[in-house]
Amino acid sequence: MAFALNTYPITYRSQFINGKWNGGYLEKPHKTPDEEAAMNAEDRAKLENSRNCYDDMPLVNYTSQYGLACFEGLKALPQKNGGLAIFRPDQNAARFARSMTGLCMPPFPEELFLEAVIETVKRNARLGFTLKYNSDWEKDSYMTADSVYIRPFTMGEGGIGVNLSSEPYVMVITTPVSAYFKPGRSDAIVTDKIRANPNGTGWIKACSNYVISALAKSEALKAGYMECVYLDATERKYIEEGSSCNIFFYLKSGELVTPELGDTILPGITRASIIELARDKGIKVSERKISIDEAMEESKECFVSGTAAGATPLTSLTYKGKKAVFNDGKEGEFTVEIRDTIKGIQYGKLPDTKGWVVQVI
Ligand SMILES: *Cc1c(COP(=O)(O)O)cnc(C)c1O
Repeated sequence: MAFALNTYPITYRSQFINGKWNGGYLEKPHKTPDEEAAMNAEDRAKLENSRNCYDDMPLVNYTSQYGLACFEGLKALPQKNGGLAIFRPDQNAARFARSMTGLCMPPFPEELFLEAVIETVKRNARLGFTLKYNSDWEKDSYMTADSVYIRPFTMGEGGIGVNLSSEPYVMVITTPVSAYFKPGRSDAIVTDKIRANPNGTGWIKACSNYVISALAKSEALKAGYMECVYLDATERKYIEEGSSCNIFFYLKSGELVTPELGDTILPGITRASIIELARDKGIKVSERKISIDEAMEESKECFVSGTAAGATPLTSLTYKGKKAVFNDGKEGEFTVEIRDTIKGIQYGKLPDTKGWVVQVI
């Protein structure tokens, strides 16, 4: 399944016209999930592809021409006790509105976001497009677990001049996904590329930020690494993020460090949740600058965090030909513990004492 696109039949679409959002649900061609699974590969691909095409949307627009857009990523997670639940969707709703405001678009109201996300998952489930819990996932602390990925995003209205979007579309699509990263060794390299500049769009979940991410990640993969890590744009010294995830260092001193938020770091919801969970465990957590030298010399463990990544260990970090191996190249105890905790809450194996999990079906 991996991170492939197989859009579920029901999607949500809204557009801001004459000062208000006009939204609704669209049902694309489909059979039952069983019938689709029985189709030959070519016919199935055609059907799935048709769900990703909208003939009535403008091709030439501020997004396709100039990359003006933002998005969110959430998961509906199959629950141990049945059904699907979403982790902290209110936080995604708030961040989406902030991102849109940051791009000078009319923000999509948070309550509309929540309703669209939940309804899209529910309506697809009613057609049979949903996932069930599998207790095998518990064996590798959900590293290989499946989920329904929810992707809300904006798209610009038709236009050719460089311009801001005043009548953007907001769409919500869902697609089943499995783990983003494979379990096991994961070596990372520090990239020369700069993801985000001061006074830029690094704090916005902007599509344009992902161009550099894709380039840097592909360079890293070609060089035999699984992930790349960015340094700050100004001093080229302080750690910022992984390729599209936040980053943590568990130091030999017992301190957990993650780079402080500023306008070049994306405020991850997984990041915020891990900080809170680690503090609850009595760990000293610091949001502060951490230099590449400190990270390489003082870290016992390192991991990246995000909705797609969960909490995935980086077992080594290479910079200017020097390689620091963490925890003898094996997953660290602390990383596994924090992942077990957050994944346990997300999949309903551990109690949700913070009210983070919203049951959808
Ligand atoms: C989305 C994203 C993250 C992770 O955010 P979560 O809310 O934890 O999924 C981290 N870094 C970047 C650049 C991102 O776009």
